[in-house]
Amino acid sequence: MITITHLDKHFDRLHVLKDISLNVKPGEVLVLCGPSGSGKTTLLRTINGLETIDSGTITVDGETVDPKSREIRRQRQGIGFVFQQFNLFPHLSVIDNITLAPRKLKGLTRDEAEARAMQLLDRVGLRDKRDVHTDTLSGGQQQRIAIARALAMEPPVLLFDEPTSALDPEMVGEVLSVIRELAQDGMTMLCVTHEMGFARDVASRIIFMADGRIVEDTSPGQFFSAPESARARAFLQDIL
Ligand code: ADP
Repeated sequence: MITITHLDKHFDRLHVLKDISLNVKPGEVLVLCGPSGSGKTTLLRTINGLETIDSGTITVDGETVDPKSREIRRQRQGIGFVFQQFNLFPHLSVIDNITLAPRKLKGLTRDEAEARAMQLLDRVGLRDKRDVHTDTLSGGQQQRIAIARALAMEPPVLLFDEPTSALDPEMVGEVLSVIRELAQDGMTMLCVTHEMGFARDVASRIIFMADGRIVEDTSPGQFFSAPESARARAFLQDIL
């Protein structure tokens, strides 16, 4: 579903991604973790074409992702991305937030887009919020709407960039349980998160990054009970 080969990226002189290669199969759920500044968010953003790369290749669902290509806008909309800060349109209603891209980019009629949006609102437990403006919702509700909005484009993969780190603690669970259900339904997902309990339960693979490299690519069982690298042992000691 995702193939990355020999990916390198700099921000000016800072070498943020170093020879990253990664294969993700359909239905896999990868949790990306590691110390702050190790390149997790940048890696996620390159998969969605939000960052240029210096060398290497990225393909998603058989298509090469190239931020410089004319196809990139369409491609970006086809890969679901859920941001830390939700990035909803605050001046639009919930239903308009969810139906905008399918109508504009997939050519769905209003009725078709709304019917699908209502199914997604059911799925995230927010059917009764269809007509409210998103800025009246709690953070947890806004993030669930952001997930519904991403799903509305029927993406082959969903990318999550610290989806719960902007939330009050009591709202973390409701967002993680939506992601957990998507995993059970077989959605292919990559999630940058510091929620290690969630990672242990839901991930099929843990990708541990440090200094721009993938240091471990392993099962949660292995990672949490017997991490191979000193970097991962130090990381786990600090956060668990
Ligand atoms: P992580 O998600 O693991 O915390 P990031 O991918 O956010 O790491 O950042 C990796 C490194 O790249 C950090 O040193 C960060 O300061 C730097 N960085 C991230 N985005 C930019 C940018 N737009 N311009 C310059 N440096 C950046």
